[in-house]
Amino acid sequence: MGAAKRRKAEIDRLKALPREQQEAYQALRADERIIEQGIDIEGDPEAQVTALARVLAHKFQSGIEAGDLDEPTSYLLTKAQRTLAKLADVPVACKKGCSHCCNIWVSASVPEIFYLAKLLRGQASGREMAVRKAHAATEPYTHEQRPYHPFPCGFLENNECSIYEHRPVACRLASSGDAEICARSYNNITDENIPTSVAYLMAREGVSLSLLIALQKAGLPQEQYELNAALVTALDTDDAERRWLAGEDIFAGVKQDPGGLKDLPEVAHLYKRAFPA
Ligand code: SF4
Repeated sequence: MGAAKRRKAEIDRLKALPREQQEAYQALRADERIIEQGIDIEGDPEAQVTALARVLAHKFQSGIEAGDLDEPTSYLLTKAQRTLAKLADVPVACKKGCSHCCNIWVSASVPEIFYLAKLLRGQASGREMAVRKAHAATEPYTHEQRPYHPFPCGFLENNECSIYEHRPVACRLASSGDAEICARSYNNITDENIPTSVAYLMAREGVSLSLLIALQKAGLPQEQYELNAALVTALDTDDAERRWLAGEDIFAGVKQDPGGLKDLPEVAHLYKRAFPA
């Protein structure tokens, strides 16, 4: 069927829907248009964060029914990448081959963890072994201790991310203004603070808040976990994704990110704006 015929069939299908469903569909399409190019911190971030949250929540609901969150996760990562593209003019020291920040604690949401676990299963076994090795080396350390025990991420290969197109939001929107400070600090030589771009911080917070609110709306847990341990748990648990979606806390023994956004007052405000009662 050609594009014009498909469009007509879609319009006919819509016309046959009850009015309420037609309005919900139109609202969703409007949100998709708002967020088409990701979050632009120069625009109206609150409107964009809430639009992304509504689209993601809708996609998570479909994912719950299907028992598979890949589609909303892929959508999230695409929007995070477009958000990153909007920051192209912001000067940062980060560049290809610079990987100091790939030696520290990495946080990821559960949908990202399942997405990456499936990716790992489809790769050569050496990659999974590298992730397991990273987990064995980092498992003893808490979030506070981890900066003193740097260890390369299991996805790092020749100082480049081997899953660059699929890397978590936390990696995509990390930034530094000085690679030499990263080299010293991330290798546990000094305790210097990494100079981080405010624009990147705002963009990362926007995408993360959208995800958080969408998970909340979909009735899913919002915790973020240490990547190595969570991946190994997802790989070693039979039917992990379906069990987690059914409410089983399969990540109960995995260290959580203590710096989550969940309890920020902005979350309640944005949730109400995204989903007014
Ligand atoms: S997933 Fe990729 S970008 Fe993120 S820490 Fe690992 S190697 Fe680095």
